[in-house]
Amino acid sequence: MAERLDGTVALITGASSGIGAAAARTLAGHGAAVSLVARRKDRLDELVEEIEAAGGKALAIEADVTGQDRARNAVERTVSELGRLDTVFNNAGVMLLGPVEGAPTEEWDRMVDLNVKGLLYVAHAALPHLLRAAEDGPRGVADLVNTSSVAGRRARVGSAVYNLTKFGVGAFSESLRQEVAGRHVRVSLVEPGVVDTELQSHLREEIREQTRERFAKIEMLQSEDIADAVAYIVTRPRRVAINEVLIRPTEQA
Ligand code: NDP
Repeated sequence: MAERLDGTVALITGASSGIGAAAARTLAGHGAAVSLVARRKDRLDELVEEIEAAGGKALAIEADVTGQDRARNAVERTVSELGRLDTVFNNAGVMLLGPVEGAPTEEWDRMVDLNVKGLLYVAHAALPHLLRAAEDGPRGVADLVNTSSVAGRRARVGSAVYNLTKFGVGAFSESLRQEVAGRHVRVSLVEPGVVDTELQSHLREEIREQTRERFAKIEMLQSEDIADAVAYIVTRPRRVAINEVLIRPTEQA
C-alpha cells in the first residue's frame, strides 16, 4: 500500500514541463513539499501557485544543472528553505537525435552535459542529505529516482549519443544502488517509452518530422503515466525497493 509523504521534501529537476511537472504535482498530492528546479522560472512560478492553491507546499529554484555549482546550490537551497531532502527525481534531460555522420557535435555536448553530467552533479550534491534522511527522517528511507528511457535499454540507428547518455544513467544508477542500499537510500530507474511532452520540440526540423511520423499512429503516454510510476516507487514501505520501471505506450514496438 502507498505510504504518505507528509513531512518529507522532494526535489524534482526538469520540473518546468512534461514528466517533471507532472511528477511535482503528483508528489505534492502525496504530501511532499516539492522543490522545482529548471531554467524557466516563469513556468516554475506558475506551478508553485497551482500546487499551493491545491493545498501543497512548493518552492521554485531557477537553475541550469549543467553547472556543478548551480546544481549544488539548487540542492542546498532546497535543504535550507524546506528543511531537509528525502526524495530526488533526477529527471531533466534533452534528446537530440540524428545520425553520427556529420552530426553537429554541439548537440552531443548538450546531451552529455545535461543527461549525464547534470544528473551526476545533482546526485552527488543530494546524496549526503538523502543518507541523513534515511537515518533520521520520518520514513527511515530516502529515494533517488533517475530518468532513463527505453533508449537506455535498446540502441537504435539515429539515436547513438542519446543512447549513450541513457545507458550511462542506467549503469550509474545500478552501481550507486549497490553502494547505498544497506543505508536505506533506494536508487531507482524509470525508463519511459514515447511520452507526449516538449522533448521532441528541440529536434532539428527534418529529424522532428521523422520522429513524428514514427509515432503518428500510436497513442503516446502522458506525463502523468510516468508520474504515477515515480509516485509508486517512492511511496513503497521501507523494505521494498522498486529498482527499475520500463513503461511503453501499449502500441510501441
Ligand atoms: P521536456 O522537454 O518537457 O522536459 C525537460 C525538462 O528539463 C524541462 O523542464 C527543462 O526545463 C529541463 N531542463 C532542460 N535543460 C535543463 C538544464 N540545463 N538545467 C535544468 N533543467 C533543464 O521533456 P520530458 O518531460 O519528456 O523529459 C523529461 C525526461 O524524460 C528527460 O530526461 C527525457 O530524456 C526523459 N524521457 C522522455 C521521453 C519522452 O518521450 N518524452 C521518453 C524517455 C525518456 P527548462 O527548459 O525550463 O530548463
